[in-house]
Amino acid sequence: MSLTVRGGNRAAAGTHAREAAIVNAVADQRHTEQKDLPAQVRRWVRVAERITVLTGAGISTDSGIPDFRGPSGVWTKNPGAERTATLQHYLSDPELRIAAWQTRLHHPMWSAEPNAGHQALVRLEEAGKLQALVTQNIDELHQRAGHAADLVVEVHGTARWTRCWSCGDRRQMSETLARVTAGEQDPPCEQCGGILKSDTISFGQDLVPDVIERAMRASAECDLLLAIGSTLSVYPAANCVPVAKAAGALVVIVNGEATAMDQLADAVLVGSISDLLDRIVD
Ligand SMILES: [Zn+2]
Repeated sequence: MSLTVRGGNRAAAGTHAREAAIVNAVADQRHTEQKDLPAQVRRWVRVAERITVLTGAGISTDSGIPDFRGPSGVWTKNPGAERTATLQHYLSDPELRIAAWQTRLHHPMWSAEPNAGHQALVRLEEAGKLQALVTQNIDELHQRAGHAADLVVEVHGTARWTRCWSCGDRRQMSETLARVTAGEQDPPCEQCGGILKSDTISFGQDLVPDVIERAMRASAECDLLLAIGSTLSVYPAANCVPVAKAAGALVVIVNGEATAMDQLADAVLVGSISDLLDRIVD
């Protein structure tokens, strides 16, 4: 099992005048409903007993960490950067690894702090409602916001640690970045001389089955799933949504733009993620 991406939004509405009038009427109604929607979701959050949260890069953009596929995303602006995140290229190309270490060294992650959105999710844990926080993010901002580490399920790993591709030796990223600063352009493993990589799941790399299983179980056992800041186009993480829906949970999507799964949700909140989360969690 490895990462896959499915793209494409639903087709635009028809252009026939009559159809357009109907579409406008529906849009007006939705607009009216949308105004009260955060209050409605807040009521759902209040009565929910087992909440599972799925987060993607969108929750961290207000902390100054750019996302990948949004309008200002790393891969949208520079498609070549996606090569760095592809395992076979990383392992076979020393020049690419040298560039990757420089990117890591100067990444905005090191100065980023949790924002109001991260803090709102901590309040769910404090209220005893949070059964798992599944995240596609690799920045550990959820843990830094105050979550118990064992509630955070990192489906794509963490960039705050390195792992040796040969022997599995795992260390703090800061330790290895200090070696880069000291002049090692592509620091090898100190145990075996193997290639070091951030402890993240690259494209072409197998996911950790236990971690994915835990994410799916938490989605199947919740009564409310909040999918936040994810385009819901990267699998298997995106499967949390249909799994929760099939198990009878309410599904709420909170994002800055439309997602691939809006049609499955009971409510879709579009806007500033940190503002919206602050409004829907007491
Ligand atoms: Zn090693």
